[in-house]
Amino acid sequence: MGEGNAVQRIGVLTSGGDAPGMNAAIRAVVRKGVFHGLEVYGILHGYAGLIRGEMNVMDLSSVADIIQRGGTKLYTARSEEFKTPEGRAKAVENLRQHGIEGLVVIGGDGSFRGARELSHLGVHTIGIPGTIDNDIAGTDYTIGFDTAVNTVIDAIDKIRDTATSHERTYVVEVMGRDAGDIAVIAGIAGGAESILIPESPFDMENVLDKLRRGQERGKRHSIILVAEGVAKGMKIGEQIRLATGWEVRVTVLGHLQRGGSPSAFDRTLASRMGAYAVDLLRQGKTSQVIGLQGKDLVAIDIDEALTMKRKIDLSIYELASILSI
Ligand code: ADP
Repeated sequence: MGEGNAVQRIGVLTSGGDAPGMNAAIRAVVRKGVFHGLEVYGILHGYAGLIRGEMNVMDLSSVADIIQRGGTKLYTARSEEFKTPEGRAKAVENLRQHGIEGLVVIGGDGSFRGARELSHLGVHTIGIPGTIDNDIAGTDYTIGFDTAVNTVIDAIDKIRDTATSHERTYVVEVMGRDAGDIAVIAGIAGGAESILIPESPFDMENVLDKLRRGQERGKRHSIILVAEGVAKGMKIGEQIRLATGWEVRVTVLGHLQRGGSPSAFDRTLASRMGAYAVDLLRQGKTSQVIGLQGKDLVAIDIDEALTMKRKIDLSIYELASILSI
């Protein structure tokens, strides 16, 4: 066992929605842990697997060849049972039986709430933000967001090719129930004509005016990006069609935004965060979540992170609107 470690045996799990880069984070936790002489357990199927005792020791080679893969090697799940004290008691008992003192939880807000409960039961927990939505307070970026944005941009570029050829208006619905980050960043980078997000009320008349003005100037096609939390893309498409009489096509990108090989940014972020989580556990820290603020990784108290209000950067949204005038 390694010297100078506050805990000797740790676990890692992925929970909630999967995101590209989770594998890179798992790899970093395992390799950094082993580097410091820790024993690292991989827990399958998130909290559901923790309750069922699905855990195995991971060695260096068990995380070989995964840094480039989307999804999560440890699988992910949602667990209603874990929300009950009885479920959590089973989970803690399994950890005790294996002598696991520390746990790295890679997931979103819900997963962090679960981690907080475990920390109240004496398990050292560290959260790593992994979700394509970028909807976690205390971090500029979550693991998976950059890859998802690049996937959306790729789709927009392709749709623009056909939109240009047919001179049509396209509505593209992207993920983001409460957070418009994917729509805003993919919108500015993909040159979308309008971006509709849940954080900013919009007036359909303005959207239509902009479309008509574009048409008058000779614009032959337009792309309107809609975050799913605003409205169904179909509904927006129908409203445009009824108001203008134009042919409108709607594309719902759906789950393909969750997949794919992680970008360099996500792999790097995941590698750094995974390694930092191990350092925090080695120092005896608990109830913390990791964030990226500027260039630096920070550790934030989990209670604080869960109560902080997350704000979208509306200046980029406004810039996108100016640039697509
Ligand atoms: P995400 O982590 O992506 O936000 P969920 O909100 O589905 O995903 O949460 C993942 C899992 O975390 C849930 O299925 C549940 O097991 C656990 N969880 C969520 N909220 C709580 C809570 N308040 N207490 C305990 N566990 C929770």
